[in-house]
Formats: sequence, structure tokens, C-alpha cells
Amino acid sequence: METKYIFVTGGVVSSLGKGIIASSLGVLLKSQGLKVTIQKFDPYLNLDPGTMSPTQHGEVFVTEDGCETDLDLGHYERFIDQNLSRLNNVTSGMIFWDVLNKERQGDYLGNTVQIIPHVTNEIKKRIIQTNEEEPCDIVITEVGGTVGDIESLPFLEAIRQFEFENRSNSLHIHVTLVPFLDSSGEFKTKPTQHSVKELREIGIQPDIIICRSVRPLHSKLKYKIGLFCDVEVESVITSIDAKSIYQVPMLLEKEKLDQVALEKLNMKSNDKRLEDWQLFLDNISKSSARSITIGVVGKYTSLSDSYISVVEALKHAGVANQVNVDIQLIESERLEKEPPEEVLKDCQGIVIPGGFGDRGVEGKVEAAKWAREHDIPYLGLCLGMHIASIEFARNVLNMNKANSQEFDESSENKVIHILDDQKTLTKKGGTMRLGAYPCEVSDGTLLHKAYQSNQISERHRHRYEFNNKYRDIFEKAGVVFSGVSPDKKLVEVLEIESHKWFVACQFHPEFKSRPSKSHPLFRDFIKAALTTDIQ
Ligand code: GLN
Repeated sequence: METKYIFVTGGVVSSLGKGIIASSLGVLLKSQGLKVTIQKFDPYLNLDPGTMSPTQHGEVFVTEDGCETDLDLGHYERFIDQNLSRLNNVTSGMIFWDVLNKERQGDYLGNTVQIIPHVTNEIKKRIIQTNEEEPCDIVITEVGGTVGDIESLPFLEAIRQFEFENRSNSLHIHVTLVPFLDSSGEFKTKPTQHSVKELREIGIQPDIIICRSVRPLHSKLKYKIGLFCDVEVESVITSIDAKSIYQVPMLLEKEKLDQVALEKLNMKSNDKRLEDWQLFLDNISKSSARSITIGVVGKYTSLSDSYISVVEALKHAGVANQVNVDIQLIESERLEKEPPEEVLKDCQGIVIPGGFGDRGVEGKVEAAKWAREHDIPYLGLCLGMHIASIEFARNVLNMNKANSQEFDESSENKVIHILDDQKTLTKKGGTMRLGAYPCEVSDGTLLHKAYQSNQISERHRHRYEFNNKYRDIFEKAGVVFSGVSPDKKLVEVLEIESHKWFVACQFHPEFKSRPSKSHPLFRDFIKAALTTDIQ
């Protein structure tokens, strides 16, 4: 069977949830036994989001092969339950970089290098490439940004050409917003009409229009949108606001999105196997009867997307424990001004997620101290492991000035210091210890209890590590290094023996949690937190 290509563009406004829609379509197609992959085109000029602040662009997601990618790849992986790779996220920066390098090598000798055809050819190559390593039945490509943006024009031109060259194997889905005006009690279709007009000016005629809206669109309205946008009424699909993103596949299934898409691609629909997904949704409903409050103490709290994989992993773990997780995003700087008993009083468990730079670090140390001293379950993720080490050194081992080299170069007790192979690096982008690395797990530890294995592999993104000089003294004071690299040189996980549940890891387990397969560390963390009594 020839591979089919589905392109998802967005119009009217940004943040329409195109990523969730692309992921949901992936779920529906995969549930029919089709081999699916999802790719994201990001029109910005950065080579990858690795150097961008999470408060601007949300979390930086990391793939197994160590690529720093857009957070939508996290949604794709979680929804279609499949690991993706560096091929699944393409930025304008990557495209231009490759084109300019080729120009310098003389690949285009004699020619003027231009957006069309050189840049567009490079983009088209990336669409096909996704499919080359592991052939798929369907490649879904989401184009970031909103139609009308200058930045995304080369991508849109490339997919227009792609359709011209692969007419029967391509499908265009355009996602728009249909606002409901309370004042007049009406839906408004004009923004959708304009967005489609804009798309058609570029030469792309959508096959399917997905309308985001607060409530279902009635058939007359769908007819009107179809008529003005040259799309059959059955191909106008409503995507209403959902309580949980995990409901979206089922809502789109009711609207027959997958059926319409397959028909248009001349493929037949097969029986769907959505039992697991439905079971997860049923378990979400069952979990709503009781709640647990978890504090996520970080510094990128102005945008909840900054910690999206942590948030989702906590939700999955809640469902696995049949409890609704009420996540409090706590700005760590608050703990530098207000007492922890005020700020953390409701938290039955504390997570310190990843982060960079010294702002708010002292507040995080306060949070770790509070958790350790009050037997409150603690899950430290990367920076959260560094914080736990600093706190333990300062308050248990009396090294008052203990710190990470990242925050205090002159500290006499750098319990966290720079990784050997990072010392000589001067470039920032893509140079951390990135991607999946193995870790050996000691028997009889919380880590082993969670994974039930002595060999695990988790994804990393860091420059600093635990300073081995301090291993002995930490161990003597009750720290267990339950996870280490196979050569034993790198500390991967530390635990505090006397504590109810205190696990701090150098890796990012949140990237591997999936809705129906809650990550074992998050699952056990929530289980332990359920035993915390809050006065
Ligand atoms: N800033 C720390 C480091 O580079 C932690 C990174 C992280 O939390 N991802 O090692």
C-alpha cells in the first residue's frame, strides 16, 4: 500500500489545539490497525526549541534519540503510544541550515538558491523522510502557526506542491475557530470563511474543516461553512471544548472524522479497537470521586505548558491510583518570602521539575527541606535531583554553602558539578547530555519496587551531575544511590532511606508516561502521597 499523507493547518487564532487534533486522528487511525506517524513543522528560525524559554514556547520535549523538540511531540507520543524521533520535528531553522550548508558545499553550483525550489524541496524531502526509516500507512504532518503568518509560507507552499505531485495520496485538514457570540446568541462563521480564503489564495483547498467551538454546530451551520468553503457538509467537523484532552479522539470519532478522512484517501475503514482508550476514559471518571493535591514547585509557572509532560504524567498516575490529581503550580520564589507551612500546607506530595538558572533555586531548596523533614513524598526530576542533593548537604551534612556549580561557581561544596564532557563546550544548542541512557537499579529500593527491574532506560537533558566526591558521606548519612549508569560513574537516582517516599532522579521519567501506562515512578509517588495526612 502506498503511504498516505494528511496535512493539518490552523487558522483564525493560535492555540486551537491542532496538536491534540492531529494526535486524536492518529489514535483513531491507529486503532484501525494502520501504521501511523505524526510530524510537526515549526516555522520559527531556531534550529530546535532547546534554547528557548519554556515560558515562551512551553516545555522542551526530548525524544529517545536525544532530540529537543516541540511539546506537541509529547502529545503525539502519549496519544499514539509510540516513540518518535528527530525526523518528527522540523523547524525553518533546520531547513535553512541544511540549504545554506549545501550551498557552501557547492551542491547548487551555478544556481541562484531560492525559497522555491530549494527550500520547498528540502521541506518535501522531510515529509517523505518520516516514512523512510519505518514505512507507515499514514503520515500526519501538523504545520505550526496560523495561516496568514509570513513565517509559515514556505511550509504551506511545500505542502501545496506535495499535493500536486501526490494528488491521490494527500489530504488537507484545516482547523479553525467558530466563535459563539453570547450577545447575539449566534455562531460566527466569517473567521473560518476568511481563513479558508487565505488558504485557497496560497493554492490549498482544504478537504476537511475542523471547527473548534464551545458547543456542537448544527447542520445548517455546517452546510453554510461547507458552501462558502467548497467542502462537503460531512467534511465539516465540530471539535467542541472537552474537559479532558483524552476525550477528543472519541468526540472526533462521533463526528466521523476518521471515516471521512479514509474515504477521501480512497481507503476503507476497518473495525476500531478503542477499548483501552475507553477504559482509560472510564477510569478518569471513576477517579473524580476523591482528590489529592500535589505541589509542582518551579519557576516557569506563568505558562502551565512549561511542565506539560509532568502535568500529564501526574494525571496518568492519578488515574492509575483512581484519584483525581489537583496540581498546584507553585512559583518557587514565593518560598523565599513566605513560610513553607503557608505555601505548601495543602500539598500531599511535592514535585520539583527540571529547570535552568539560579532564579528561584533557594525556594526549591526550601520545598525539598519541607518534604524531607515532614515525610512528604518527594519526586525530583533532573534539577529536582540537584535540589535534593543541595538541601541534604546543607541541612543534614551541615555544608552550609553547598550548591550546584550551575548556581555558585565558588561554592566550596559543589555537590553537583559539570559533567566531564561538558567542560570544554561553548555552544549552547543541542549540546547537553540528551536522550535515552541505561541505568542500573539496586535491589530493595523504591526504584526497584517501582520498575520491578534492574535495568531501565530513561531520557535525559542536563549538563550537571552528582559529584562523586560526596557519594560516601551522603551514603553514610542515609542516602541510597539506587540508580547508577552501567559504568557506575554517574548517579542517576538517589533516595532517602528513612523517608516514606523520597526519590530524586537525574532523568526525566515524565517523557515516557502514557495514558494507560502510567510511569511507575509517578504511579508510586501518587500512591505514597495518598497516605499523607493534611491537617
Ligand atoms: N540545569 C540543570 C542541568 O543542566 C538541570 C537540567 C534539567 O533540569 N533538565 O544539569
